[in-house]
Amino acid sequence: MTRIPDLLQQGRCYSFEFFPPRTPEAEATLEATLVELEPLQPSYVSVTYGAGGSTRERTHDLVVRINEHHALCAMAHLTCVGHTRAELTDIVTRYGHSGVDNILALGGDPPAGVELAPGELEYAIELVRLIRGVGEFAVGVAAHPEPHPRSTDVESDRRHTAEKLAEADFAVTQFFFEPHHYFELVASLHDHGIDKPVIPGIMPVTSISAIARMAKMQGSEFPEWLSRKLHAVEDDPEAVRRVGVDEATALCRALLDGGAPGLHFYTLNRSTATREIYANLGLGA
Ligand SMILES: Cc1cc2nc3c(=O)[nH]c(=O)nc-3n(C[C@H](O)[C@H](O)[C@H](O)COP(=O)(O)OP(=O)(O)OC[C@H]3O[C@@H](n4cnc5c(N)ncnc54)[C@H](O)[C@@H]3O)c2cc1C
Repeated sequence: MTRIPDLLQQGRCYSFEFFPPRTPEAEATLEATLVELEPLQPSYVSVTYGAGGSTRERTHDLVVRINEHHALCAMAHLTCVGHTRAELTDIVTRYGHSGVDNILALGGDPPAGVELAPGELEYAIELVRLIRGVGEFAVGVAAHPEPHPRSTDVESDRRHTAEKLAEADFAVTQFFFEPHHYFELVASLHDHGIDKPVIPGIMPVTSISAIARMAKMQGSEFPEWLSRKLHAVEDDPEAVRRVGVDEATALCRALLDGGAPGLHFYTLNRSTATREIYANLGLGA
């Protein structure tokens, strides 16, 4: 099995993120997306984890299915929310038995409207330690270029991220629209003595209302200049998508020119925007 830290040592990593589908239609869409994105030969793909109920199983099944049936290496996301230590240990052990070597260890967010028992772990760093205790996994963590919405201040968030990344292998960031947010994060981690790879997360805008909602939720600034450009063509969904792809391409170029160790695309289970950005950047097979 491929280990992401080994890939990062060899060069830049390009990855795609998916979420487990909930309906047969969504399942078919994802399968088509996987087939369309496979020829781009991403370094790895990742599958998100939802707290609670059957969504948990779906992550495991999708990660294993991608690894077995596609020419892709899939990393599993895992969150602390609502889990006991014993449950988390079981999940990680099962990944080990299924040949899954890469796990993204996350704090997670309690899902709205779902009653869950309080989890035994509070922060992602505790999950990193738990995974390390189970086996020889490659462990990634989340980083927030614009500090995490629950943080009281930038400095404490940077310090917690540095402490967490010191025990992990690499980080993947929340999405953002201005390159300086990413470079400030990397510089701050360096000042804390941490120079491990931090892969920027890219969210191409394909719908104005969806991106505004997601940015608010994640604490990402939706810049005025981008909002203006998008609203100028808001009556034409195809033009909105084109602006989104062009701006994401420009962001990717700035990040790569500035030394980013790769790019992680939030695909929302669709392939078009990612394929277009890849083509614009001259990436892929
Ligand atoms: C690449 C990526 C993938 C993601 N995938 C998923 C997913 O699959 N499923 C999902 O539910 N969510 C996912 N998320 C969202 C993530 O779970 C949320 O942003 C969550 O609120 C925080 O996760 P974290 O791992 O950064 O948490 P943590 O590292 O635990 O940090 C959370 C907050 O606690 C603070 N903190 C950390 N340690 C301490 C400490 N010792 N003392 C006091 N404060 C502390 C931090 O500064 C921060 O404000 C993803 C995020 C990213 C960037």
